[in-house]
Amino acid sequence: MTTTDLEGLTALVTGGASGIGLAVASLLAERGARVAVLDLDPASLKEPLRGFTADVSDDTSVRAAVDAAAAVLGGIDILVNNAGIGAIGSIEDNPDEQWHRVLDVNLLGVVRATRAALPYLRRSAHASVVNLGSIVTTTGLPQRALYSASKGAVLSLTLAMAADHVREGIRVNCVNPGTVDTPWVGRLLEAAPDPAAERAALSARQPIGRLITAEEVAAAIVYLASPAAASVTGTALAVDGGMAGLRLRSG
Ligand code: NAD
Repeated sequence: MTTTDLEGLTALVTGGASGIGLAVASLLAERGARVAVLDLDPASLKEPLRGFTADVSDDTSVRAAVDAAAAVLGGIDILVNNAGIGAIGSIEDNPDEQWHRVLDVNLLGVVRATRAALPYLRRSAHASVVNLGSIVTTTGLPQRALYSASKGAVLSLTLAMAADHVREGIRVNCVNPGTVDTPWVGRLLEAAPDPAAERAALSARQPIGRLITAEEVAAAIVYLASPAAASVTGTALAVDGGMAGLRLRSG
């Protein structure tokens, strides 16, 4: 089946109540999948998306939400590990507690949700996991030490999981977005001394000259999750406006 039609499939998106996760959940549903969202606060979600409250840093809540979602959906074919938090600074700027917190959500959150979903994925004929990496996995950006370490680990984990589960028919891939226009980036811009100047600087940093949209990232994730990508596993797809691959000279 070389199609991005997801009719008859089921999908679970972590952190799907906002930004990229919400765009992914919406597009998965638009393509015909039955979709559940696992989030700290899923109250704002609208039909046909079904929300389940869980914190990916808490194993018990993740297991309960994954089992409840699978029961309602009738299984899990697609898992999108999108929940994540940011951290600004060099290695001198964040105390150990903050390192533990960000790694607990960004890295161990992927482990917990995938571990809980594996029994369902094993029963699927189209099992696929897509993890949210970042441009920072392949490009050194200043003031992102902790966040980069967490997302670099997600990229390595993606490759390891792809190797471990390929013979079970479970594909595992990663998407590396550049700077995406989401509520998260909106909060960063609001905190800047000059939000408009900061937005212009972030846009100029990407060779296409603008921020990426959440819908553009969602389209890449849905492709990787779909039967059209049946032979694609253990790869990272950059959706970054050329940021990692192109080295343009100004002028
Ligand atoms: P966002 O803040 O708009 O949305 C994140 C969602 O995750 C929210 O709904 C939030 O409630 C949920 N969440 C956070 N912590 C959680 C937890 N512990 N348990 C369950 N849910 C939790 O963020 P976004 O910009 O859409 O980013 C989504 C993902 O994309 C993240 O993994 C982020 O690292 C990655 N990413 C974002 C960008 C960007 O520029 N926005 C770039 C590269 C990668």
